[in-house]
Amino acid sequence: MADLGKGLKAGAVAGVIYGAVGEVIKQIVYSLSWGDRIYYYVFFSAIPGAIYGLILGIIIGLIFAVAYKSLPGTTSIVKGLIISIFSWLIFSFLFQYIIIYYRFYFSERYQITIIADLILFIFFGFLLGVFWDKFGKLQRKCPKCHRVIPKDARLCPYCGVTLEKEQE
Ligand SMILES: [Zn+2]
Repeated sequence: MADLGKGLKAGAVAGVIYGAVGEVIKQIVYSLSWGDRIYYYVFFSAIPGAIYGLILGIIIGLIFAVAYKSLPGTTSIVKGLIISIFSWLIFSFLFQYIIIYYRFYFSERYQITIIADLILFIFFGFLLGVFWDKFGKLQRKCPKCHRVIPKDARLCPYCGVTLEKEQE
């Protein structure tokens, strides 16, 4: 069964960090590449960035959960990186630049933002893998009473049922 809850949580947390940090970095890169000075208010762009990252992170996190076993790579981080590069291609490059901006020629300024986007998506993929492992290790649900319990528990602390080692 696909672990949708885990994908949603990992995607949401990774997405918020990616969105907030990414938007501030992008604003700084824009300012520098246009020869502007950096104003303190670029840091406010972390807020819309976090909201955008949350939505995108949840979508990618759910896809990640469904596709997890079919993704190449042996660790969650490698799988996260693969899905993030794939997501960059679809959500950023194809959707944003080709479909919305209808752009087939990329000026130097666009090339910089596309590459910055790719780097940030890779950062997101790394975080997605890290949080996927983190959420996976800490908790599971008791098969009998369905409460959230520590993943390595041998007995359910609530209903006392003896637990099998969880199958991956
Ligand atoms: Zn229980």
